[in-house]
Amino acid sequence: MSALTDSLTQIGYSLRSCLTGLKVVYFNWWKFRERKQTVMYPLEEIVYSPNHRGALVFRPERCIVCELCEKACPVPGTRTEKTIEIYHHVGATKKRELDEFYIDYGSCINCYLCVEACPVDALLPGASFELATIDPDAQYDRSRMIYGMGQLSLQPESAERGSFEHAYEYVPRDRPFDAAVSLGEDEDPAEETASAGESSGAASA
Ligand code: SF4
Ligand code: SF4
Repeated sequence: MSALTDSLTQIGYSLRSCLTGLKVVYFNWWKFRERKQTVMYPLEEIVYSPNHRGALVFRPERCIVCELCEKACPVPGTRTEKTIEIYHHVGATKKRELDEFYIDYGSCINCYLCVEACPVDALLPGASFELATIDPDAQYDRSRMIYGMGQLSLQPESAERGSFEHAYEYVPRDRPFDAAVSLGEDEDPAEETASAGESSGAASA
C-alpha cells in the first residue's frame, strides 16, 4: 500500500513540475507574443547591444607606441608571438614612430585587456563582427584574419551599429588587406611577378 502511495506521490510531483514548466512557457509566450524573438540570420541583420565585444578599433594618430597593449595581450598569435604585433622605428626627434599595428583575429579572444592597458585610448571597443566573411579567403587561410591598422582604424566603434552589412561598409571587399600585403611570408614569387606584370599592364593600358 505504501509503495502505491509513493508511486502516486511521485506521479503527482512529475505532473506538477510539468504543469509548472508549461505555465512558464505559456506565460512568456503570451507576454512576448508581439515581440519578434527570432532573427532570420544571415538574411536579416542582427543588431547587437552597444556593449557587444566586437572587432577592436585602432586610432593610429593617438598611439604613442608604448607597447603596453602588446604586453597585456595574453594570447599568442596564429603566426606571430603575440596576437598584437607592433612595428616601429625611432624618428628624427628620438621618439618612437609607428610603422604598422596588427591584430590577429585568428587568435584574438576579444578579452579587451589591450583596451584597458592602452593609456591614450588608441585601442577602443568595436562593434563589427563576422570578420571572416569580409574576406572569403579567411575561411581557408587564417593569416587573412591578421588585420593591419588600415582595417582596424576603419572598424565601427561600439557605440555604432556593428552588423555585417555595416562591416562591409567599413571594409570594402576590393580593398587589399594590409596583412596579406605586408607580411608576405607565404607569397609565391611567381604569383607576385604575374600580379606585378598585370598591374603594370593595367597601368600602361
Ligand atoms: S582583445 Fe585580448 S586577445 Fe585580443 S588583442 Fe586585445 S588583449 Fe589580445
Ligand atoms: S597601448 Fe595604446 S598607445 Fe600603447 S602601443 Fe598599444 S595602442 Fe599604442
